[in-house]
Amino acid sequence: MPNATAEGAADPRREERAPTGRPDLLGLAPGELETALARHFGALGEPAYRTAQVRRWIYGPEAASFDRMDNLPAAVRTGLGRAFRLATLSPRSVSRSRDGTAKHLWALRDGELVESVLIPEGRRLTLCLSSQAGCALGCTFCATGWAGFSRQLGPGEIAGQFRAARAWALANGYGRITHVVYMGMGEPLANRAALNTSLTVLNGGFGIGARRITVSTVGIVPGIRELSERPEQFGLALSLHAPLPELRARLIPLEKRYPLPEVIAAVRDYRARKRRRVTFEYTMIRGVNDDPSLVPELARLAREAGAFVNLIPFNPIPDREWVASRPSTVERFRTSLRASGIEAAVRRPRGRDIDAACGQLRATAVAGPAGAGTPERGCRSGGPRLSGSAARTGPSEPRG
Ligand code: SF4
Repeated sequence: MPNATAEGAADPRREERAPTGRPDLLGLAPGELETALARHFGALGEPAYRTAQVRRWIYGPEAASFDRMDNLPAAVRTGLGRAFRLATLSPRSVSRSRDGTAKHLWALRDGELVESVLIPEGRRLTLCLSSQAGCALGCTFCATGWAGFSRQLGPGEIAGQFRAARAWALANGYGRITHVVYMGMGEPLANRAALNTSLTVLNGGFGIGARRITVSTVGIVPGIRELSERPEQFGLALSLHAPLPELRARLIPLEKRYPLPEVIAAVRDYRARKRRRVTFEYTMIRGVNDDPSLVPELARLAREAGAFVNLIPFNPIPDREWVASRPSTVERFRTSLRASGIEAAVRRPRGRDIDAACGQLRATAVAGPAGAGTPERGCRSGGPRLSGSAARTGPSEPRG
């Protein structure tokens, strides 16, 4: 069951702690970063333009370690290294799919492993990133929850996935990242302090437009309401997966804490406040949540929330007998939704040939070769299909 730590603001005891006490520049909002740098350089008697120089190194496409900021005098670089950290994630592995999907397993400073996925789709390049190491919410269709919660990621570790993936993408011919989705490991609204800062860093620092950043949640109502208080128009995706409370509770234990009517009300308010459509994610599991009789209620909820519906064939996970709905069933859902006036799309899985379901690489790395039998950890509906394509919240979205 969720608890206050896993579901609420970051618990500093469970975040990676900098042994040196030096602040991570990537974990500061751009305004805080400038203030910290200005103080630092001011105390050293360095010219004010040093702050802008370092800012460019942090957020610009040439960003590198302090040592590689070669337009700074060596003494300045040394001083930066003494005063600050720069979270640099090192890739434990990278897997590339025939369809272009590229998945990174990143090693954090304390040995935790997290994943991010790059999904090219036409002119769009979407990065799906993780917000927690593990997850405490235990959704039954998602293997991420099975392994439990390890710790919150800090904002620099979330933004660091972007920075490291961006460098890799540029070096490997993928081009610029155009969209970001918080749909990897963990529930972003259960790590709101880090989420909020990282959103500001991605938007205000790295320059990813708010409308090109989507936060996905299984329905943490206070988090949805907090997100709606922000001035930016970030996208919101709700992992719905069932339109009836009893059925949803079988899939998402959090339903008991935040009942569906409350969640839908929060999503509806978010849409009204932000004036942008939200997305329902609906993973289709054969014989579990794909009965045609569910369509009218799903359509009603989508109408109430003003939502676009993504239908996502379930990605089977070990130790779970569930399988994906038949293609004909998925198509019938889509047709029925459209007949009800609800915009809906079927999302194709990505990166199947690299076992790119979220958490697979991490599980294997943690368990060693025997990890092949380890339950596959999954993002919010068990695979990277959510990453790129689910980021699209409908035809009104700007395309990359
Ligand atoms: S679907 Fe999301 S919230 Fe649920 S267990 Fe998986 S990562 Fe956690």
